[in-house]
Parts: sequence; structure tokens; C-alpha cells
Amino acid sequence: MADAILEHSSLCYPNEACGLLAGDAGGLRMVYCLTNADNSPTRFTIEPDEHFGALRHAERSGWELIGAFHSHVHGPAFPSPVDLAEAAEPEWLWIVAGPVDGSTELRAYRIADGVATERELVLGDQEPVV
Ligand SMILES: [Zn+2]
Repeated sequence: MADAILEHSSLCYPNEACGLLAGDAGGLRMVYCLTNADNSPTRFTIEPDEHFGALRHAERSGWELIGAFHSHVHGPAFPSPVDLAEAAEPEWLWIVAGPVDGSTELRAYRIADGVATERELVLGDQEPVV
């Protein structure tokens, strides 16, 4: 799953990559590598039809959407001020990959009330849906 995020981040370079995470009580089950509708190097919006498709697929599989990931092209694997302001789901896991043009790290956070708290990142080895 980490490889899927890193590969998607490289493919989308020089723009930000994004996607969704699905899981259940057992943890993270699936990474959906999706389209950044903003086509931007500094921000992302998950393409709405793909967001809905991922939600449908997760529900059919008995999972829930539990988070999202995106890449930072030049910046560190830490939520930007925009990320903090726009993270609408306090229960979600927010994975940030960055910097894509350097030695990319993956870090995970909960973001509530504009404050990021780092979480341990545990990724399985299941095949991603691209
Ligand atoms: Zn960001």
C-alpha cells in the first residue's frame, strides 16, 4: 500500500496526487489512487465521481472510508495550512507523502480543529485498486 501511494505520487508529479483509504475494524484494507481534479502542484480535490466510486466499492466490500492521502511535491510530509483548514473529517486518517522531488516520506495524522496529531502508520500489503 505504501508503494501504491508512492508510485501514484510519482505518476502525478509535478502535481499533487490524492486518493482515499478504506478499512474496517482490522485496520486499513485498501488504497484508492484517484484523480486530483485541481491538477495543481499545491492543492488537491479528489475527483467527485471517483470519490463516489471508491465509497461504493468500499461499502460493497464491507469497509468504510477511513481516510485520504495526498502528496506534497516540494514540501515535507506534514499537513500544510490549507490541509489543516480543509480537513473536514476529524475521524479520518490523513496520510501525506512528501517531498515527491526528494526522499519521500509517508506520515499519517488525525486533523481536528485545525490541529494535526501524528499517528503511527501501519500499512498492509494488499493490492491497491488503481
Ligand atoms: Zn497538502
